[in-house]
Amino acid sequence: MSIRIQKTFEALFALEEIRGIFRKSLPTGLDPDEDATFRQRIADLKTIVADLEAGTGTPKVTKIAGTIDVRTREEESINIQPIQAAGRLTTEARKALISYGDGYSTCDACRKPFRLDKISKPGIADFHDDLAKFVNMDLARVVPGARRGFQAVAGTLVGKGDTVIVSALAHYTEFLAVENAGGVVREVPLNAQNLVTAEATAQKIEEVKTETGKLPVLVMIDHYDYQYANEHDIAAIAKVSHQYDIPLLYNGAYTVGIMPVDGKKIGADFVVGSGHKSMASVAPSGVLAMTEEWAPKALRTTAMVGDLTKRKFGIKEVEMLGCTLMGGTLLSMMASFPTVKARTLKWEEEVKRSNYFIDRLLKIAGSRVLSEYPRKHTLTKVDTTGSFDTIAQTHKRRGFYLSDELSSRGIVGEFAGATRTWKLNTYGLSDKKVRYLADAFTEVAEKYELTVLP
Ligand SMILES: *Cc1c(COP(=O)(O)O)cnc(C)c1O
Repeated sequence: MSIRIQKTFEALFALEEIRGIFRKSLPTGLDPDEDATFRQRIADLKTIVADLEAGTGTPKVTKIAGTIDVRTREEESINIQPIQAAGRLTTEARKALISYGDGYSTCDACRKPFRLDKISKPGIADFHDDLAKFVNMDLARVVPGARRGFQAVAGTLVGKGDTVIVSALAHYTEFLAVENAGGVVREVPLNAQNLVTAEATAQKIEEVKTETGKLPVLVMIDHYDYQYANEHDIAAIAKVSHQYDIPLLYNGAYTVGIMPVDGKKIGADFVVGSGHKSMASVAPSGVLAMTEEWAPKALRTTAMVGDLTKRKFGIKEVEMLGCTLMGGTLLSMMASFPTVKARTLKWEEEVKRSNYFIDRLLKIAGSRVLSEYPRKHTLTKVDTTGSFDTIAQTHKRRGFYLSDELSSRGIVGEFAGATRTWKLNTYGLSDKKVRYLADAFTEVAEKYELTVLP
């Protein structure tokens, strides 16, 4: 590990130790013992900072709580891990996390009627309005992950034995949300280009109608799927769903927070996004937005009355179980939001860098792209059976030689050992980093005498 990165963590930890002294002291200030500890800690910090500045010293703190490794992947490497790229925190989110990490930290100024989305200090209520506007829907709630958004919608619309249409590329959490509600999924098959079309969706709806005598109760489709990150014609699918009077859930796990999303224009009834996948937020976080029309159902408030105490809980929303993200998760989302909003406007640049990398990879003879090409997304499934895998066949480290070569160049996040089909995500990488990444693959190819086209 770079000693400067090591010392940065040590300095941060030393400051947390100092913070801990204030937390133990009286509001009136430090007592003599605490003051002595404080001075000692400041002296320690100065040593660390001197090492940090000079790039000297040896690692002193390598574990948290004695067992947990310090995670420096994002500081040390270029991380192309498919699901991690757009969930990396902004600097502002990291500040929010250290400041609001305490349990129910959002609840300092919670006033009647006691609901998370009504809190105005910090500006959680406004953030909810902003979130709804951001995806052009009427109302939004924060949820612990996209999956909990699916669950809330399924809990609202899906009864025992009801059918939900998903795609043949649907995420497992869509299956589970439907299963949890007692429903059954039916998958829309893909066409030859690995796309879900409106026609195929209509056909599947008809099939369900014929077989069960009932229409599906929900169509849940990913705008970009997690396997190829191909773009599916979600607006046309929404239109078809509405022709059958079936609501459409737009799964934006790989879109909301990285590219512009206009829920109304798409014709979505629900828009779901993932905070930790695409909104530079702490896990688990996400957003569930909807049109006004669905609010009375999906955001229904509790009607339950205690038989003994006759207690009622007013405006608590059933599907949200009252309140959802009550601490650092939500504050990290809020802190990243200005950056997230701005970055969606630069999506085309991200796509350009993604294509730059893929084009360079394709110059390594035998490499293929399994996702649609040219790329419309930064997540891509590639097939290097005809290039890097030919080396793995006889290499003593098998497929791991490629991860070894990459990690020695500071590149992590590719599926270790995989040299046939694998996924990568270039989201958030600067021009400089994308060029470095492409150069690294080229270098490895040349080292093993694969043909690299000019
Ligand atoms: C990652 C992903 C999810 C799950 O998102 P969480 O926020 O982790 O619940 C759902 N659907 C798709 C298409 C995904 O890629």
